[in-house]
Amino acid sequence: MRTNNLGYPRIGGNRELKKACESYWAGKSPIEHLLQTGKDIRLHNWNLQKEAGIDLIPSNDFSFYDQVLDLSLTVGAIPPRYDALKNGNIHDLYFAMARGYQQNGLDLTAMEMTKWFDTNYHYIVPEFYKNQEFSLFSTKVIEEFAEAKAAGSITKPVLIGPVSYLLLGKEKEAGFHRISLLNKLLPVYIKIIEQLVAQGAEWIQFDEPFLALTLTEEETSALKQAYALIKEKFPQVKILLATYFESLAENTALAASLPVCALHIDLARNPEQLDAILDHLPENLSLSLGVVDGRNIWKNDYQKSLKLIDRAAKKIGKERLMVAPSCSLLHVPCDLVAETNDTTLTPEIKQWLAFARQKIDEVVVIKQLANSENITDAANKLKANIAACESRKTSVLIHNPQVKERVGNITDADARRNSVFEMRKALQVASLKLPLFPTTTIGSFPQTAEVRGWRAQFKKGDLTQKQYEELLKKETEETIRFQETTGLDVLVHGEFERNDMVEYFGEQLQGFTFTKNGWVQSYGSRCVKPPVIYGDVSRPQPMTVFWTQFAQSLTARPVKGMLTGPVTILQWSFVRDDQPRAETCTQIALAIRDEVADLENAGIKIIQIDEPAIREGLPLKKDDWQQYLNWAIKAFRIAASPVADATQIHTHMCYSEFNDIIKDIADMDADVITIECSRSQMELLDAFANFNYPNDIGPGVYDIHSPRVPSKDEMVHLLKKAAAVLPASQIWVNPDCGLKTRHWDETKKALTEMVAAANEAKVLYAEALV
Ligand code: GLN
Ligand code: ZN
Repeated sequence: MRTNNLGYPRIGGNRELKKACESYWAGKSPIEHLLQTGKDIRLHNWNLQKEAGIDLIPSNDFSFYDQVLDLSLTVGAIPPRYDALKNGNIHDLYFAMARGYQQNGLDLTAMEMTKWFDTNYHYIVPEFYKNQEFSLFSTKVIEEFAEAKAAGSITKPVLIGPVSYLLLGKEKEAGFHRISLLNKLLPVYIKIIEQLVAQGAEWIQFDEPFLALTLTEEETSALKQAYALIKEKFPQVKILLATYFESLAENTALAASLPVCALHIDLARNPEQLDAILDHLPENLSLSLGVVDGRNIWKNDYQKSLKLIDRAAKKIGKERLMVAPSCSLLHVPCDLVAETNDTTLTPEIKQWLAFARQKIDEVVVIKQLANSENITDAANKLKANIAACESRKTSVLIHNPQVKERVGNITDADARRNSVFEMRKALQVASLKLPLFPTTTIGSFPQTAEVRGWRAQFKKGDLTQKQYEELLKKETEETIRFQETTGLDVLVHGEFERNDMVEYFGEQLQGFTFTKNGWVQSYGSRCVKPPVIYGDVSRPQPMTVFWTQFAQSLTARPVKGMLTGPVTILQWSFVRDDQPRAETCTQIALAIRDEVADLENAGIKIIQIDEPAIREGLPLKKDDWQQYLNWAIKAFRIAASPVADATQIHTHMCYSEFNDIIKDIADMDADVITIECSRSQMELLDAFANFNYPNDIGPGVYDIHSPRVPSKDEMVHLLKKAAAVLPASQIWVNPDCGLKTRHWDETKKALTEMVAAANEAKVLYAEALV
């Protein structure tokens, strides 16, 4: 039995890569510094895995920005707008594709970015054209293999497989499907393999994550064709085909029939698939068992893993087995050892966790236990593992009987408002007295360096609680005054006291903990530090009432209470794996529900529950969608439903492709939903119009992701488009998303124009309404 790893985090233990990239981009350090940083990280990762005892160590898992972009450069899929940079420095070209380029008289937009399957990692979407040509443009994969070899490791180069690579991309013109480009792409893969073999590569890993999704007939034959060709050209090369994030399900027979040397499966996500795969496994195919969860930070349960391995060994023998993490370790932080602050992360909780470095050791120990190697040491480690797992199962920190009882007692009525929307709307109109086309914002106002500085000083102890509060009060008051003078109808307090929309709530909820250094790459140089949900969730005291009430006390206009919804809190955290996600989500929903009730009691008449992550939580397999939507939507409703009919509930979502889930969005039954719409020129509203969506909608009328100030006229134009498909009485006027990342001067100008646009729309449509 051998050990295998699919990929290691590349940001560096102290985010060295982030810092080196940003410094290079800012022109503060030369390219040599960045290149050296990359090299240091790679050597460090290879050595660490070698010393730990990993047999199949990955290379080319490193990237300065994104592995999909690396491959686009490798196979020469460089969109024509970058032609002018093709003969220059390859790093300029690479970062131009990633981030855009505004220099030397050129103004090139970046390539699009989207989420990597159901993770929070974003990749750069390949762009394909009808007459697309491919060529071996960058030899990064070969160079990194040679680099590792020179340093004493024969690695297993990792590449996204040709079929998944094409499927990850997008056609940039009509009249062809990207899968038809396979014949042009394969020769480049052949060239790469040729060069790797010449350098001495024995194993090559091809990731084909689409094998865990539903495949069309064309895609199925593309896979067969690609791997048959590789086998024909290189009968001696050992290809490892990696799948992850879901079970192979209906593609089991297909995956097992491809002429490769080893197949990797994700047993953390779906252990049940093991038997079906064992049944299909031909005699010459090895199996890499992904038993260590590469997507979450919990310690592996060795006994559980050993049972799975034992089942496989009984059926096909140990020689054909490998032990591995379930997927690349890119999705977990580097090293738990860096967590040295006992108050942030207590020793009791820390003993339940494993980051990338620890997961590598787990893989090795599991292999030793399964192979009866290194017996005394391995047995001790097993004992310690059993103790840690037991401590987690029984810890009083985790289990809160009151929370469990409350979840058990939830009734359907708890997840329903008292009356239907029409009745609620009548009461809300009477109570709020808002005009036609009411104006509002999504919650946050610019979070200036000054505001962030106050928080840093407060955390360091350089500002007292009282001083910090006074500064935030002043900022909040100015923001309220600004909104009043600008003429907005529904105000917000500005969210100056919040660092991050999930962290802010997690820090105040029981059952959550945080790390100091648990960074995970989100995109490019951007990293996130997700909270860890380790136990039953409850809310010891109100979380937002103080600031909301303070803001409301300053003005006669309604101030909207601002909360993050249960699904978004769940989605953007490391979630406990000892109970279904639905259960954890329901617990969070009850905590938010209590907050909603407290805000109402404090006199707040409008409460917004943000759920930007509902859509991205959709399972990879469409068959699983409805089950997810059922509990996710219900969780939102539990949070939203304790209030009287006259209290108005808003929700907000950013990535708003709603066509296929519009029924469920309507089931959320928010009185008002605000969505991102301006970039699609209101096209997204068609889903709502076609569905006859009954409740109020605030289609974002300007893009907050850009510093550009929109004009009144263009927003009037968008409002007319909206009013052409929806009744005017249903429409709210607001930006696309929160204004946190914008500057005050742009914000002031843009909102002034927006209010003017709403006023014009009011006049235009007033008659239509009477
Ligand atoms: N209320 C949040 C804000 O305005 C919403 C952010 C989001 O949708 N991502 O910042
Ligand atoms: Zn948003």
